[in-house]
Amino acid sequence: MIGAQAFVAILLSNGSINAYTTVIEEACVENLWTTKAILRWFELISGLKVNFFKSKLFGINVEGDFLSSAAQFLKCNVGKLSFIYLGLPVGANPRRLSTWNPVLDVIQKRLASWKNKYVSLGGRVVLLNSVLAAIPIFYLSLFKMPVGVWKKLVGLQRRFLWGGAAGASKISWVNWLDICRPKKEGGLGVKDLRIMNISLLTKWKWRLLSEVGLIDGLDRTKDLFFKRIGNGGDTRFWHDTWVGAQPLKEVFPRLFLISSQKECSVLEVGRWVSEVWEWNCKWRRSLFVWEEELADMLDTILTPIQLSHSNDEWRCHHATGGRFSVSSLYCFLSGSILPPISLNPDFVRDLGFLWKSWAPSKVVVFSWQLLRRRLPTRENLGKRGICDNGTDSNCVLCPLELESEGHLFCGCAFASTLWTKIFKWFGLGLVVPSDPLDIFHKFSVGSGKGKRLKGFLAVWHAVVWAIWRVVGVKPFDIKGFQGNKEFTSCFISYGHDC
Ligand SMILES: [Zn+2]
Repeated sequence: MIGAQAFVAILLSNGSINAYTTVIEEACVENLWTTKAILRWFELISGLKVNFFKSKLFGINVEGDFLSSAAQFLKCNVGKLSFIYLGLPVGANPRRLSTWNPVLDVIQKRLASWKNKYVSLGGRVVLLNSVLAAIPIFYLSLFKMPVGVWKKLVGLQRRFLWGGAAGASKISWVNWLDICRPKKEGGLGVKDLRIMNISLLTKWKWRLLSEVGLIDGLDRTKDLFFKRIGNGGDTRFWHDTWVGAQPLKEVFPRLFLISSQKECSVLEVGRWVSEVWEWNCKWRRSLFVWEEELADMLDTILTPIQLSHSNDEWRCHHATGGRFSVSSLYCFLSGSILPPISLNPDFVRDLGFLWKSWAPSKVVVFSWQLLRRRLPTRENLGKRGICDNGTDSNCVLCPLELESEGHLFCGCAFASTLWTKIFKWFGLGLVVPSDPLDIFHKFSVGSGKGKRLKGFLAVWHAVVWAIWRVVGVKPFDIKGFQGNKEFTSCFISYGHDC
């Protein structure tokens, strides 16, 4: 409708239920009469009455006089752009921040209602994916999100993830791009809204291609799609990409110039002979010797291709079975747009094991933070200037060593004794490694598959979670601290209060 004269009528029925109907027509007197007649038939058939007094008529490139007359004829009011229809601002400029304010307001209200200080990190990851990422989906599926809005949304998500209440900033322990990576690639699987926006908008392009056959204006994304040739009736021989990665007119520009079938479909460049397809390219004149070589190359490409009697179909490169889906395109785009993760591939593979566990999400996310060495230990807090690097950074359980992840979960006497007992329990005569990742490796890679793997991982999660809980208890009860007793209570509570 862009550039065309059209009117949009939003009609409200006046029955026991409110029902909205939108009518979009070219602005002419005949269409007004037709619309009036259809609505009258609708009233007679359904028993509902159209409330013209509450209905509005909008003009797109329509003269004011015509619009006023049309509104008078339909007995409704003239509306002004933009207006809200089904929760979306129709006619608003999506590049303006004010268009997105309703989305930002809803997210902020939802965040305030959660009082996020009482939600664990794992819980916040779940809420981010299931609620916060879902709120703007309606807008994202219709409007291209400006960079400014994307940054604001990411800011809200990041502050929520790391526990900042009422706009207060807290330490972002892991890079946001890593957070947005899939779990199997070492991230937390939080959806990147910018990529989600592109994927959702591409769905409209896919529908234009597959349902309407419209390809004009798809230059930027046409590489995502290809034509699966059937009988060749809907595919242009020279212009469409149906064999190889480029249209034939780009592969053989000279042959295209002298072709007498420039606008022909694939079906028209050949014929069926006894159920065998034969190609028949025609030229405006006799070919020069060097052009014959090009024609031979074209023949070499075409000869193995046999048409069928089914219809041509558009397919998507990056989807299972060629059928487009938002999730498959999101996976492809996140792999190509997000920069490569700066972690060892073996470590990324190990991180993928974390999620194959029965443990609650908050414990799994805690383990992920531990293996990424991004826990708020005194060493890490010291690096960020939160506490002094002197004796303040020493272990809370044995104030002789630096409180790092390696010491707290392996080297500290309390943790070391604990792992030794666990290893004995499993019948393993192992020396306790100095790196939590080495212990995790023994519980994941070396423990088989299925329930056996899940069982081993559950023990790992329970032990590291309980150690962290003990570390949290210790500073507040230094005199009464009895190691094993605190550990036992934390271990038992693992299954109850997660
Ligand atoms: Zn210690």
